[in-house]
Amino acid sequence: MLFVNGRHVPMEFFEDIPFSLDREVLLQRMRLVAGTKEADEFEALVDRAEAMGRPKAGYTVRYIDEKGEDTVTIGGVTFTSAALRRNLEGLERVFPFLATCGREVEDIVFDRQDFVRAYYWDTIKGALLECARRHLQQHLEARFLLKTTAAMSPGSGDVDIWPIEQQRLLFGLIGDLPPAVGVTLTESCLMIPVKSISGIRFPSEHDFRSCTVCRRENCPSRTAPFDPDLWESLH
Ligand code: SF4
Repeated sequence: MLFVNGRHVPMEFFEDIPFSLDREVLLQRMRLVAGTKEADEFEALVDRAEAMGRPKAGYTVRYIDEKGEDTVTIGGVTFTSAALRRNLEGLERVFPFLATCGREVEDIVFDRQDFVRAYYWDTIKGALLECARRHLQQHLEARFLLKTTAAMSPGSGDVDIWPIEQQRLLFGLIGDLPPAVGVTLTESCLMIPVKSISGIRFPSEHDFRSCTVCRRENCPSRTAPFDPDLWESLH
């Protein structure tokens, strides 16, 4: 259970998420050829991450109190985002969540000159975060019998889609979850470990991706094409 504003709400978190890192996929992502010196160095870091990594994730169950034109109030916290408001149409229950690569791998510091290995490590931390995120999604869908879900995060997509400053509101909504999984929020609303993701997951037949409403060009992490009609409809 989670204690928020003097009330108990359901919370569950996972500190020992089983995971394995797909070396083939990671080598491809890094454009490294197996058997080369560079690939061996990279795989040594993957070994290290598998030995010491502890990706973590958790969620709470909250109910929608009220919906405005471009606002939605959840558990007494009002978020302003036309996209979030639209995505939550017809819903009463949502799952605010947090997932992270874990502090254990965050605290490794490489020599400043060793930027290649630092870059490798950053990619591996991203893969650990993805393991945590996927574990949580699968758990929620199975536990609450949800056929499919989608998620939104403050600060993803164009700045006005769901402003990153509302990260503070989200952290207020999830109460004790950040310390439980070892994530802190800086004054500029960035999370530490940096490879962490917070947001609201909700039942949805449509896969919503913030990339569809993000105009950033040449983003290497883009997972969906920009949708100008959708973007226009939210402004
Ligand atoms: S295009 Fe890139 S910056 Fe924009 S939401 Fe997608 S991953 Fe994030």
